[in-house]
Amino acid sequence: MEAAACDLLIKLLETPSPSGFERPIQDVVRAYVGDFADRVTTDLHGNVIAAKNPEAPIRVMLAGHCDQIGLLVSHIHDQGFLHAQTIGGWDPQQLIGQRMTVWTAVGPLPAVISRKPIHLLTDEERKQVVKLEDMWLDIGAKSKDEAKELVRIGDPVTLQLGYQEMRGGLANSPAMDNKCGLWVVLEALRRASKGDLKVGVFAVSTVAEEIGLRGAQTSAFGIDPQIGIAVDVTHATDCPTIDKRQRGEINLGSGPVVVRGPNMNPVIVERLLSLAQKNEIPHQLAASGRAQPNDSNPLQICRAGVATGLVAIPNRYMHSAVEMISLDDIDRAADLLAAFVVSLTGDDDFRP
Ligand SMILES: [Zn+2]
Repeated sequence: MEAAACDLLIKLLETPSPSGFERPIQDVVRAYVGDFADRVTTDLHGNVIAAKNPEAPIRVMLAGHCDQIGLLVSHIHDQGFLHAQTIGGWDPQQLIGQRMTVWTAVGPLPAVISRKPIHLLTDEERKQVVKLEDMWLDIGAKSKDEAKELVRIGDPVTLQLGYQEMRGGLANSPAMDNKCGLWVVLEALRRASKGDLKVGVFAVSTVAEEIGLRGAQTSAFGIDPQIGIAVDVTHATDCPTIDKRQRGEINLGSGPVVVRGPNMNPVIVERLLSLAQKNEIPHQLAASGRAQPNDSNPLQICRAGVATGLVAIPNRYMHSAVEMISLDDIDRAADLLAAFVVSLTGDDDFRP
């Protein structure tokens, strides 16, 4: 992976983007794509659209959601502690004892989220699964008044952001879902823009995926593509307790995952697989029999229908503080997407 591309990944991971509060990460995206996109626009929903050949009659949309799960300050306690709601799907157990950041109008504010220590839990409490409402954010304020000077109801909160490289080309960070998929989409456009493109390519940093796939729906309507590929993370199954009988064999480092099933256009799937084979890009195959909980879902049913594919990045510990991926997987996914858009002639027939 080139140094500039690696820097982009880290920058995306270290920039907050809870759903509904994506402007900081969209600033990073706009600055990066300015060097190679023919046109960069932002729609009223907040989606950033970087296009090559925007006037071409055949349009392909690459969707990578930029938003991450987070919390939203909902109440300031008499003693200055904060209570919060969730943005997106959390396992509250994952939050106990985490370092957090409250993104206030005056800047980032360090916080911790926890509950009382094990010594003080009753036997009954020890058996229970913790609920978010029984935890609190502690910013070190001495009083409600002090907290209110810093924090406003509706301020977003994230895990403390930070990227860590590990052995074997692996890395962990909060919000690999889906900063790494967003990275793939941007990097694919950059790589493809060096070649001769016969179609319009629209790389979209979509918003609000984590609260119902909303940005892909609005941006796809606006772009009106004939072809769409979403990039998002999928569960790696190469760790204990995950049932491969249903989820299949998905390993970190074995390449991007091409998903087959009714949410996908079979001609697109075969094109992706044959390009992976031809370009010697390691890849994996996964099955899903239902509408996907990611941007490929609204893409497929936009307007009169879009020929849709999903390229997924294996991810361990999704929606936690330590989401793990393989850097090789995202690098290869960007190659596969770039090869895909370069392969489009403008008169391919993707009707299933
Ligand atoms: Zn996601």
